[in-house]
Amino acid sequence: MRYLFFIFISYLYLQANAHIFVYHRFADIKHPTTSTSIAELEKEFKYFQDHNYKVVPLERILDKLEKKESIPSNWIALTIDDAYKSFYQNALPIFKKYKYPFTLYVYVKATDKKYGDFMTWDEIKETDKYGTIGLHSYSHPRLTKISTKEIKEDTQKAFDIFQTKMGYKPITYAYPYGEYDDRVKNTLKQFNFRAIINQSTGTVTKNSDIYDIHRLALVGDVNINHKLRYKTFNATWIEPKIFPTDGVLKHIKAKVDPKIKKLKLYITGEGWRDIKVVNGIVDETVSIYLKRARTRIMLGTDVFTISNKIIIKGTKNGK
Ligand SMILES: [Zn+2]
Repeated sequence: MRYLFFIFISYLYLQANAHIFVYHRFADIKHPTTSTSIAELEKEFKYFQDHNYKVVPLERILDKLEKKESIPSNWIALTIDDAYKSFYQNALPIFKKYKYPFTLYVYVKATDKKYGDFMTWDEIKETDKYGTIGLHSYSHPRLTKISTKEIKEDTQKAFDIFQTKMGYKPITYAYPYGEYDDRVKNTLKQFNFRAIINQSTGTVTKNSDIYDIHRLALVGDVNINHKLRYKTFNATWIEPKIFPTDGVLKHIKAKVDPKIKKLKLYITGEGWRDIKVVNGIVDETVSIYLKRARTRIMLGTDVFTISNKIIIKGTKNGK
């Protein structure tokens, strides 16, 4: 009995999954598809409060990750992309009311050139008192579609302006549109960010890649309880790495725990299907013409315990 108890406890320990959420705009009726109403935001915050979730600074999760320590499942980190004015005007008061920390990712060009919809540097500095500020590129490019040289130039420019305006170096980075691949990731790594975060549905565990941290998007009215059910399924993706040049997805290959005999596979436009796993290898031959610019491929033991691969059309395949 005692033995079983320890197995159960170590299972929980291994499965510890924290959730990082990303918001964009708030109470912005002109952009309903990327906006969260204040009533919804309060509903989510109350849910966290009432269900024993602890909203922590992203840095506390990074501390755990760097030490390879289990991250408590009731930890949540909140992030906001782009630094729209609607965050400052409508949502910051709510974050302050709940005393919830957050990380705000700045689209540097939009703020620096004073685009109407975006926060000013003064507003960002004021916001810095309640959360942390991260980098979200200079020109918000689709990084997979520009050259390595262009990625470096964009990042350096964003980095330098951020440092001049904020008085310190940016610590973390969020991929614009959440779009990236190995080339983009390896290029950004050279800037020594403490962490880089994406927007591929998933959670963070002690085994997460510090340059590929998953976030779950919260836009519009969501079922927050559903979002909190997501867990990480450990898979090493072998194929596909990038969008196929002829647009036809032919092969899905990944390495998983050899004890697993069957899994669920999801492909955008195709839905879920059950697949067999042999000797810890997923090896599925398919023939799917990918119509969309972005295709999500997921493997999971169920629809909430998942590993995600996103491939993007028009990906540059080299320098
Ligand atoms: Zn963005």
